[in-house]
This record gives sequence, C-alpha cells and structure tokens, in this order.
Amino acid sequence: MIDVPLPTIRHNGPRPFPPRVSRFTRPFWTALEQGFLTAPKCQACGRLRFPPRPLCPACWSEDHVWIVLRPHGRLYSFTRIHVAPRALDGDLPYAIGIVDLDDGVRLLCRLVNQATFADIGREVETVVLQYDDGPLFAARLI
Ligand SMILES: [Zn+2]
Repeated sequence: MIDVPLPTIRHNGPRPFPPRVSRFTRPFWTALEQGFLTAPKCQACGRLRFPPRPLCPACWSEDHVWIVLRPHGRLYSFTRIHVAPRALDGDLPYAIGIVDLDDGVRLLCRLVNQATFADIGREVETVVLQYDDGPLFAARLI
C-alpha cells in the first residue's frame, strides 16, 4: 500500500486547461488533490486503465477498483514545446514526456525538467502540480 503522497510543485494561477471532471473521474481528481496518482484496475482481467475510463479496453468489463500507482518509472520519450497556446506562453519552453510507470501504465504528461536526449530511459517520478483551482500530474527526472 502506498501512503506517502507525491511531491507537490506549487503553480500560481489556475490550470491553463482544467480537466473535465465526470462522475467516473471524480475519484481520480480527488485522490490527485490529496497527492496520489490512481487508476481503475479491472476486476475481471486485472488490467489498469489509464487514462481512467469506465470500460476495460481488454475485456469491456465495468467492474473496477481504484488503486494508487507507484510513482517510479522511466522516461520513454519527450518533446520540447517552443510554441504553445497563449495560456501556456509563460511556461515556454517546456517539455512533455511519455513515461512508463513501473505499474505498467504509460503516461503522457508535463516533464518538469528540461530533458535532453541522453535522458531517455532515465528514472522519473510522478509529481503533483498544484494550481489555485486544482491539481495536474507531471513527472520529473530523478
Ligand atoms: Zn478487463
């Protein structure tokens, strides 16, 4: 069981593109607010669903339990963004990474470091970006 919250990085202002929270995804956002990255685990076949979705893509079951994902993974790839929507102008340049978590989940998220190609395959950990109106998840090289 994972009971240590993820490191939190504070960001002033609201999230540039706040997520649409549905009845199904509310537990995900509530857990992230508390510092835990979670995913629904299929009760029929055991597969993790990420991003969270009500139906299992492997067996179409709706049965699931929410589990806390371990924060450790590896950087699979990344790109550096130099031109962005106006809401993200202040963050330029920034990196978006593809991260393979040890739990078998692949994330696409902000990479808080300025990575280089030599960083591909390096260890990362997930973090919470805490904005004034709520959290987002991200990863950083460790
Ligand atoms: Zn399933």
